Amino acid sequence: MIASVRAFRRGPLLGLGGKRTLANDRKIPKVPRYADQVKSLKCSDYESLKVASEVRKARGDIPLETDVLIIGGGVIGSSIAYWMMKLVEKGLNIVILEKDPTYHRCATTRSAGGIRQQFSLPENIQLSMFGAQFLSDYKHYLGDDAPDIHFNPEGYMFLANTDSGAQQMEENFKVQKQMGARVRLYSKEMLNQQFPFLNVEDVKLASYGLQNEGWFDAWSLLQGLKEWNLRHQISYVHGELVDFRFVEEILGEYSTRRRTNEAIIRLPNGFLLDMTFSEAVVCAGADSGHVGRILGCGEGEEILSVPAPVEPRKRGVYSFHAPDAPIVGFPFLIDPSNTYVRREGLGGHFICGKSPNKEDDNGEDIDLESVDESWFYEVIWPALAKRVPAFENIKLKHSWCGCYDYNYFDENAIIGKHPYFKNISFCTGFSGHGLQMAPGAGRAVCELILEGGYQTIDLTRFGFERILMGEPLKERHIV
Ligand SMILES: Cc1cc2nc3c(=O)[nH]c(=O)nc-3n(C[C@H](O)[C@H](O)[C@H](O)COP(=O)(O)OP(=O)(O)OC[C@H]3O[C@@H](n4cnc5c(N)ncnc54)[C@H](O)[C@@H]3O)c2cc1C
Repeated sequence: MIASVRAFRRGPLLGLGGKRTLANDRKIPKVPRYADQVKSLKCSDYESLKVASEVRKARGDIPLETDVLIIGGGVIGSSIAYWMMKLVEKGLNIVILEKDPTYHRCATTRSAGGIRQQFSLPENIQLSMFGAQFLSDYKHYLGDDAPDIHFNPEGYMFLANTDSGAQQMEENFKVQKQMGARVRLYSKEMLNQQFPFLNVEDVKLASYGLQNEGWFDAWSLLQGLKEWNLRHQISYVHGELVDFRFVEEILGEYSTRRRTNEAIIRLPNGFLLDMTFSEAVVCAGADSGHVGRILGCGEGEEILSVPAPVEPRKRGVYSFHAPDAPIVGFPFLIDPSNTYVRREGLGGHFICGKSPNKEDDNGEDIDLESVDESWFYEVIWPALAKRVPAFENIKLKHSWCGCYDYNYFDENAIIGKHPYFKNISFCTGFSGHGLQMAPGAGRAVCELILEGGYQTIDLTRFGFERILMGEPLKERHIV
């Protein structure tokens, strides 16, 4: 472990063989720097020179080569970069490529901000427990100046109203306890006593988080990470990854292998820029499947015939005022209908939502400018009013939507190196719970790339390999 960290401290990573390799070995020809490229242009070629000088202007001080290229600067990408720099401290070049630095469309800033320990898979429970620890010690990690994340401690409460649902809940509970999460099961009688504002007539069992659950301001976490990263010489580059340059490596008489260590980036003014990297991480949120396609995943043969199964799935969030509803002790409630509701502040405001039914969730509508309010009036509100009679009297105030980075294979994160492109990792597909897992997932990817394997939470099962094998690793607690 130490040896590999030391190797990083010595200098830039050695990349792939061939001309495009990051050159810290004198025998390998150096990647031509921008200035060299300009010199090699013919003077007579005035148009090219003009373009080159505009590219130089547009490029500013964007690095042309980097040890690690992180594609997507949301909470996941920013967390990966944070952990890498934290581990290595100096000498590692990290570029975070972000096509929209306003973060207008990204999932991070549009999320509901929830964190819970109540998952079915041990890995997800561990990731979330680490997320809670990170948030509770937030200023220690990100510095005293980091913006306040306004953590609201409040347990999630899942309700089960069928025997199979109750059985699944008990199984999940056992795993959560084994992992050290503080969760308690509630019978109908216990619920009636402690949460009299709930209608639990049909409820068979409930589970309620006693610690490390609640919600927080996702924007502030992203800003905190970004500010720390900028202070530690991590470059955020405004641009979109549009392609890779591939080299065909001949392995034998009949076999070749594609490799890449060069990204093609479109700058805001339309110019294209090549950036050489040693390692890249795809954490482009809902667009990760698209980036996978650019890599050739799902477009080729054998391993490359399998796509990165991530696509945008639109989810609405609705904010309402309920003057009669209780505030104190109101849990982050997950109804058996999968409708969720939590309070927002202490003035009688709540936010809620519900994912569409599987058969209607086809990913066709990803327009983030329009939210289907009929979904609130016809589906969500009736479910809420049935569960909490005080919600009979509410007023919808506003709504917004965002896209889950939805893994349509098994609704679970894909974390690890791509089995074909060994220098490209994925960290995506969280399907609605990536925010809370960002600290743990970022640390895990950092370990994988810098240490060569997981050191803290073993996320081997989250790797791409399960998709190649057609073996889903289902997370049962998806909201
Ligand atoms: C409505 C809603 C509610 C949610 N609620 C919760 C919750 O309560 N708790 C929780 O834990 N999670 C929640 N989530 C999920 C969580 O928000 C996401 O899993 C998490 O934010 C994913 O982070 P990310 O960095 O991978 O993606 P994003 O935040 O989407 O960031 C990805 C970034 O990549 C950039 N990008 C994409 N393609 C390219 C490219 N080609 N080149 C350069 N940049 C590119 C995008 O511009 C974007 O900024 C919710 C999500 C939604 C939509």
